[in-house]
Amino acid sequence: EKVIVNGELIERKDAVMDIEDRGYQFGDGIYEVIRVYNGKMYTAEEHLKRLYESAEKIGLKIHYQKDEIKSHAARLIDENMLETGIIYMQFSRGIAPRQHAFPLKDVACSYIAYTREMPRPEASLDKGVKTLLVEDIRWLRCDIKSLNLLGNILAKQKAAESDCYEAIQHRGEIVTEGSSSNVFIVKDGTVMTHPATNLILNGITRQVIQKVCAENAVPFVEKEFTVEQLLAADEVFLGSTTSEVMPIIQVDKTVIGEGVPGSMTRKLQELFSQHIQKECTL
Ligand code: PMP
Repeated sequence: EKVIVNGELIERKDAVMDIEDRGYQFGDGIYEVIRVYNGKMYTAEEHLKRLYESAEKIGLKIHYQKDEIKSHAARLIDENMLETGIIYMQFSRGIAPRQHAFPLKDVACSYIAYTREMPRPEASLDKGVKTLLVEDIRWLRCDIKSLNLLGNILAKQKAAESDCYEAIQHRGEIVTEGSSSNVFIVKDGTVMTHPATNLILNGITRQVIQKVCAENAVPFVEKEFTVEQLLAADEVFLGSTTSEVMPIIQVDKTVIGEGVPGSMTRKLQELFSQHIQKECTL
C-alpha cells in the first residue's frame, strides 16, 4: 500500500510524522476527501478548489500546484489499484517548535494523502437511516474544512451510541448541518437546505444536488429552517461525499413521512447516480 508524504510516493509503513507537526498538536490544517468510482476521481476539481479556499482562509500556503496534487492522487489510485473508495488528503502548517502563533520562518506545510477502499453504502441508501438532534457547539468558521473536528466528533459519537447514522446539529432553533454531512428537507415539492454561510461546510455533494435540481426544474432554496420544520418535513435526506444522497427516515423519536425514503429523495438519488456515471465511466 502506497501513500503520499510531502509529495513523495512511499510505502505506508515508511510514513512517519514529526511529534511537533502543527496538524498533530493543534489540528492546524485542512483536508479533503474525494470519492473514487471505477478508479476515477469524482468532482476532483470542486474538492481541490475548496482545498485551496480553506487554505487561504487560515493563511496556510500550499506550495503544490493543483495539477501536482491531482497527479499524486491519480498515482495513488493506480498504485493501490483502487476501484471504489476515497482519497484522503491533508495539509498542516508544518513542523515547528510548539507555539500557538504561526512559525516565524517560512515553514513548509506537511502534506499527506492516502486511499481507502469504500463501497457505496447501498443498503442504507436503499432503506434510509436514523438520526438524532444535537446542539451545534462548534466554532463560527464551519465553512473551513479544518482538521479541528472535536465538535463534529462529539456529535457523531452521540449518534453512534444511539445506533444512529448521523447527528443533525442545530443552533438554537435553526438546523445547520450533520456532523459530517449537509441536511436537506423536502416540503411541498421544494428542497430546502441551510445557506452556505460561515455556519456550515458548503458540501460538494450539496453543490451537485443544487446543480441537478436546477437542471431538472426541481425547486431548490437555500434558506434556514427550524427543528420544527425538520420534524414536520415530507422528506429529509443528507448529502456527503461518502454517503451520497442518504434518506433520513427518523429524527430522534419522530418518524419522517411514511418512515421510508420519499419520492423526491429517490429522484435525487437517481439524478446523483447519473452524475456519477457521467463523470466516472470507464
Ligand atoms: N458538512 C460537514 C461538517 C462535513 O464534514 C462534510 C464532509 N464530510 C459535509 C458537510 C459534506 O461535504 P461533501 O459533500 O463535500 O463531502
